[in-house]
Amino acid sequence: MEYKRIKLPFKYDYLEPYMDKRTVQLHYENHHGGYERNLLTKIKDVGFERRYPTLEDLMRNYQKIDNPEIRIAVREFGGGLINHNFLWTILKPKVQLKDGNLKSAIEKEWGSFDKFKDEFTREVKNLFGSGWVWLVKRKNGSLKIIKTFNQDNPWFLKFTPIMAIDLWEHSYYLKYNSDRMGYLDNYWNTINWDQAEEYYNS
Ligand code: MN
Repeated sequence: MEYKRIKLPFKYDYLEPYMDKRTVQLHYENHHGGYERNLLTKIKDVGFERRYPTLEDLMRNYQKIDNPEIRIAVREFGGGLINHNFLWTILKPKVQLKDGNLKSAIEKEWGSFDKFKDEFTREVKNLFGSGWVWLVKRKNGSLKIIKTFNQDNPWFLKFTPIMAIDLWEHSYYLKYNSDRMGYLDNYWNTINWDQAEEYYNS
């Protein structure tokens, strides 16, 4: 079964003080784990693995699923599963964006890293309710910032995700309460730009 959670690539306190240990633990075990358990329960008799061998394949094709109940389960729980699998890979404290293809693409699109940050921040401010803001790559290599609601994601839209922020309250409320922008301010210190560069080059 390919549809599963990745092993968390770090200890729960790895992102302190920007993201607290308890939040990371609950986020991984309860929320991410819940998406995984619910998805597997809902699709256990469907036999998707032969048609869609990976979770990414399943996401790219979810709209083709005929049964509406299963389709919704794949969209919500499958989306939650893949989004968090991605999330944990792009978190690492204090990594700077270095010279490289990703930095060049950001400067080409926005003029400077700071202007990119401004637009990303605006999108975070403008996201009402639960969802994500993503930096994604189009097929031609150019970059774009997108918002997705709930657990919708770039795979649905055939974009390649480069980095993202989870804006569900469960990802920040224990430490930041309703201060979503405070969470974002500190989030910049936890993005693994080396991994983002790898995603950009893949
Ligand atoms: Mn989450």
